[in-house]
Amino acid sequence: MLTVKCIFCKIIQKQIPSTCVLETEHTIAIKDLYPKAPVHYLLIPKFHIEHMGYLTADTTPYLVDLGLCVAKLSKTLPENAGFNIISNNGQAVGQSVLHLHWHFLSGKNLYESGLSL
Ligand code: 5GP
Ligand code: ZN
Repeated sequence: MLTVKCIFCKIIQKQIPSTCVLETEHTIAIKDLYPKAPVHYLLIPKFHIEHMGYLTADTTPYLVDLGLCVAKLSKTLPENAGFNIISNNGQAVGQSVLHLHWHFLSGKNLYESGLSL
């Protein structure tokens, strides 16, 4: 199910241009328009779901494919580059586009830039 008002649904339907780095049956991975690291991709399931709090058993194939796309994209990085996967789930924690997505970031040590976990 895709929704007409959602910017990521429009990107999936190619109604809005994006720079695609990987596409599968269930997932599109695009370059973030406002990158926060030298490598900053967005992995987006081709199914409108607001965030990970709404996952169900029926959406499992999409989640598995997101993980497989992470593995594929990691192989495009220089050896030992490392990468972070970040997912904001809810506007209260900084989610601005309300369609589930994972940020794939590399080329920058986020902990040296102030991130603390
Ligand atoms: P969030 O804040 O929801 O976790 O992340 C949304 C991300 O989408 C942000 O990093 C933002 O830069 C990116 N973004 C917003 N609009 C567009 C767009 O039209 N195209 C692309 N490629 N990225 C976008
Ligand atoms: Zn959507």
